[in-house]
Amino acid sequence: MSSKENIELNCPNCGKKQTVSIWKSINTSLNPEMKEAVRNKSAFKYTCPDCGYETILDYGFLYHQMSDRFMIQYVQTDESAEKVKDIWSDENSPMMRIMREKHYLMRIVRTQNELLEKIEIFDAGLDDRIVELCKMFILIWYSEQKKEDWPDEVLYYRQDEDNYVQLLSNGNLLGDMIIPKTMYDKIKEDYQPFLAEIWNGGFFVNQSWALETFQTFKDHVGESY
Ligand SMILES: [Zn+2]
Repeated sequence: MSSKENIELNCPNCGKKQTVSIWKSINTSLNPEMKEAVRNKSAFKYTCPDCGYETILDYGFLYHQMSDRFMIQYVQTDESAEKVKDIWSDENSPMMRIMREKHYLMRIVRTQNELLEKIEIFDAGLDDRIVELCKMFILIWYSEQKKEDWPDEVLYYRQDEDNYVQLLSNGNLLGDMIIPKTMYDKIKEDYQPFLAEIWNGGFFVNQSWALETFQTFKDHVGESY
């Protein structure tokens, strides 16, 4: 199901208190129009009824794309992330048992960018674990270039059938780099034997996951790609 809730916020421009309806969960089978609205962020657009100020709100919610059997929970605190993980790991829950039987792909993310990135990766039919490993090896390469700015965020995006990452520092773009198809395929080939099936691979797939995976298997796979 899709659901909404009302919250109160002060308009960032005029300061007046407003009641705003935000999504708690979005199921794209029930609200197909939300598929595009999430991707272009119009789902999160807020217009102040008093002063007309427009902005994009950033809040946690569940994104559920039933037709492709994946759900992504976006949470904003460690505590909420643990809570979702516990609920999703509960083997006594009939609901969760069904999810596992259906090989549902479930992920927990911590930022709006990460949520949109996951959706873009799944839209492209890619394995988010291999993408995280690609990002990690690109970062290793970047560190060897000894550039002044260090990216604090590396985000996947797709353009004209090609896969790219953008390197950001404090939200500012440091550069774009292509993920060569040969790189993705080689990493996939090397790591596949050590990884579980994608739906069974854990709820947190991010740079910490990539680093941990690399350290665990580095004696069996390549050190650079
Ligand atoms: Zn206002």
